[in-house]
Amino acid sequence: MATPEQRREDLKLVFEQARGCVRCSELAATRTQVVFGAGNADADLMFVGEAPGANEDRMGLPFVGQAGKLLEQLLGEIGLNRKDVFIANVLKCRPPGNRDPHPGEIEHCQEYLMRQLELIEPRVVCTLGNFATKLLRGDPAGITRVHGQEEVRVIGRRAVRLYPLYHPAAALYTPRMLEVLRADFAGIPALLAQPAPPQPQIVEEAEPLVEAEPEAWRDALAEAEVGEPPVSEERPEPEEPTGPGEPPGPEQLGLF
Ligand code: URA
Repeated sequence: MATPEQRREDLKLVFEQARGCVRCSELAATRTQVVFGAGNADADLMFVGEAPGANEDRMGLPFVGQAGKLLEQLLGEIGLNRKDVFIANVLKCRPPGNRDPHPGEIEHCQEYLMRQLELIEPRVVCTLGNFATKLLRGDPAGITRVHGQEEVRVIGRRAVRLYPLYHPAAALYTPRMLEVLRADFAGIPALLAQPAPPQPQIVEEAEPLVEAEPEAWRDALAEAEVGEPPVSEERPEPEEPTGPGEPPGPEQLGLF
C-alpha cells in the first residue's frame, strides 16, 4: 500500500494528465477547466457525482453550487465535512448546457475515476445519482431501485462498500426525495464502522495461475442484477453563479 505522501504525489500526476485531456473534443473545447475532484486523499469515504455544472466549471472544484451546499449540510448531519471525504465526478468536464454525459465521454473519462479510486483506496464509495451508480455497479439498474442498499463490489482491483444515493441536485426541489436521501445518509456512519471488505487476491503475472477463486474474493463478488430498465432521474437544475474562481493548481485541490 502506498504511503499518504506517495498517494498525493500520484494523484497530482493523474490531475496533471487530466488537466490537458482532449479525449472528448466537444468537452475540451467548451470547458473552462477540468474539474478533477477534491478532498482528503486518504479518505475512507468517497463520493462520485455525475459531472461538473456551471459553478464547478468556473471554480475548478466539484460540488460548489446548490447541490454542493446540500451535500455539505448532509455531511454535517452525520458529523463529517468536506475535509473528511474525497469528492469526484464521473466526468471531469462540464457537458455544455448541463446535458447528460454521453456514453463515449463516460468511457473516455473512466480511467481518471478508476485511478482516483485506486490511489485513494476508500472503503466506502457513495455514488450520487444514476450515472455514477450505473457505471460503478456495472449494471443498468436505476437509482430509485438500488439507493440505500450497500453492497461489496470489486472496482478495478479493489473491493469497496458501494452505497448508491440519490443525487443531491435531484433532492433540492423534491422534499420527499430529500427525506430519502437524508435517511440513506444516516446509514453512512455504520458503513464506515465496518471493517474493510475482503480484498481480491492479486495474482502476480509471474506466478502460476490459480484455478479456483480464493474464498475471500468469491464472497466479495456481488451478484450482478439484471432486468429493470434505467430509471431516469430529474436533471440537476442549472445553478446560480457563485462568482469567478482562480483555476486550481494541485495545491488548491484540497489534497489534505
Ligand atoms: N453535480 C454533479 O454531479 N457534480 C458536481 O460537481 C456538481 C453538480
